[in-house]
Amino acid sequence: MADEAGILVFSAHVADFCSRCGGTLALYTRNNVKVHVVCLTFGERGESGDYWRQLGDTSVSDAKKTRRVEAEAAATVLGTTIQFLDFNDYPLEINRERIECLARIIRDKRPNIILTHWKEDPYNVDHAVTTTSVIRAADIAAVPGFDPSISDVLPVPHMFGFEPTVPRDDDAGFVPDTYVDISTIFETKIKALGKIKSQSELPERYTMWSKYRGAQATQWSGRKIVYAEAFRRFTAVVGTRLPVMDAG
Ligand SMILES: [Zn+2]
Repeated sequence: MADEAGILVFSAHVADFCSRCGGTLALYTRNNVKVHVVCLTFGERGESGDYWRQLGDTSVSDAKKTRRVEAEAAATVLGTTIQFLDFNDYPLEINRERIECLARIIRDKRPNIILTHWKEDPYNVDHAVTTTSVIRAADIAAVPGFDPSISDVLPVPHMFGFEPTVPRDDDAGFVPDTYVDISTIFETKIKALGKIKSQSELPERYTMWSKYRGAQATQWSGRKIVYAEAFRRFTAVVGTRLPVMDAG
C-alpha cells in the first residue's frame, strides 16, 4: 500500500538532507507529517573526508557501512525514514534504469512535497545530476503510460531546491524565494548533523549558514528569525488568491 502523502527528499549524498533541510524536516515530523529520505549514494568517496583521514584500514565498502550508520542515526534524530540506493558517488551517473527507480519511489510515496538539490552546483556536480534526475523522474511518474496498471492520478507535488554547496551559492545562481524559520528546532538539526562524524565540519558550517539565512529571513519578514533554511521553488503556486507568508 502506498504511504500517505508527505515529504519526499532526494539527497545525492547521505549528509545533504540533514545539512540543507534537516530543520525543516524536523519541524514537519514534529507535527506528525511523514518524511522519507532517499539517498542516491553514501557520498563514500567525495563527502567522507574524516573517514579517509583516519588511521588504519579504509575501504570504499567500509566507508559505505560507516556512512549508512551515521545517516540512519541522523534520520532518527530528525524523525524521518530513510533508504539508500547505493548508486556510487564522485561521479554519480544516471541511466534509464535509475531514473525509473526514482519514478517508482515517487509513485509509491505520492508526496505532497519533493525536496532536492538546487539545479546547478558547479563544485559538486553529483548534486545537479540528482536534481535533473529527480525532475525527470517526477515527470515520468506522472504520465499514464509509465505504469498503465495504475489508473489513479498522481498528485502534483510541490518541488523545492535546497542549498547548493555552501558557502559558494553565488556561483551556482541560487537565489532563495522561500525561507523556513528553524529557530525552534535548530538544536535538533545540529544534533543530527553531529551524528555524521565522517564530515565533522558540518555543524559549524551550517550554524554559520543558518544564521546568515536567518538574517535574510528577518529582513524579508520583519520579525526576528535567528536560524533559517532557504529554498527555491521549482513549481509554480496556483490558487484563487496570491500566496503570502504566514504570521509565524
Ligand atoms: Zn553532497
